[in-house]
Amino acid sequence: MLFIFDLDDTIYDYMDPFKKTVSQLLGIEDPAACWNLYQSYRRFSDQVFPMSQAKTISLEQAGYLRSELMVKHHGIDLDARGIREFHETYRQNQQKIQIQPVVKEILTKLKDSNHKIAIITNGPGSHQARKIAQLNLEEYVDPGNIFISGYYGFDKPDHRIFDIAINRLRPKNEAVYYIGDNYHADVIGAKNAGLLSIWLKIRDFQVDDTTIKPDYTVESYEQLETLIEALIGG
Ligand SMILES: [Mg+2]
Repeated sequence: MLFIFDLDDTIYDYMDPFKKTVSQLLGIEDPAACWNLYQSYRRFSDQVFPMSQAKTISLEQAGYLRSELMVKHHGIDLDARGIREFHETYRQNQQKIQIQPVVKEILTKLKDSNHKIAIITNGPGSHQARKIAQLNLEEYVDPGNIFISGYYGFDKPDHRIFDIAINRLRPKNEAVYYIGDNYHADVIGAKNAGLLSIWLKIRDFQVDDTTIKPDYTVESYEQLETLIEALIGG
């Protein structure tokens, strides 16, 4: 079997560096308040991402802009210097990310039972590559099995990024699972590419239209581990 994973919010907790930054610089500890900020930050990230993809703005500017839009949207009292500090602290905290403990167990089991592991992630090439290195993912995943959308010009849910991966990975009459947290990018993307979809539904994102159904839905990392163990029969 071939198991392809999303990176952000699937293999590691994308929110953890954000949580730390919000606590350090804004003194916000309340989980609901942090989650609220995080949701707008993600929304603004999605708006800014095409600009950095099209190279209208630099990666550095994109990082600053995401923080600025969030700060202004929530009326947070930070000047340009404060916003820059927020962006820089966030970037430093991102360099301390770690694989989710349960995901580490899953990857170890898959590796030990000789199942193939791959990653398809959306994002700028160098940025995602840095996170992959930080997470030491090459301990589990062959570098040739890692596909970063920024290097190919197609972002999930575009089936072409999945097609590139499948052409490279050449699964032989075996089940191919795609595991990701984001309904739009991961579930729709995987299904449009003809893969089996496992939706890691751990975030409370609003999904308006769920016409396309994942093959499996799990609501915690523990459920994901149980499912994968059942799929590989151990
Ligand atoms: Mg994700």
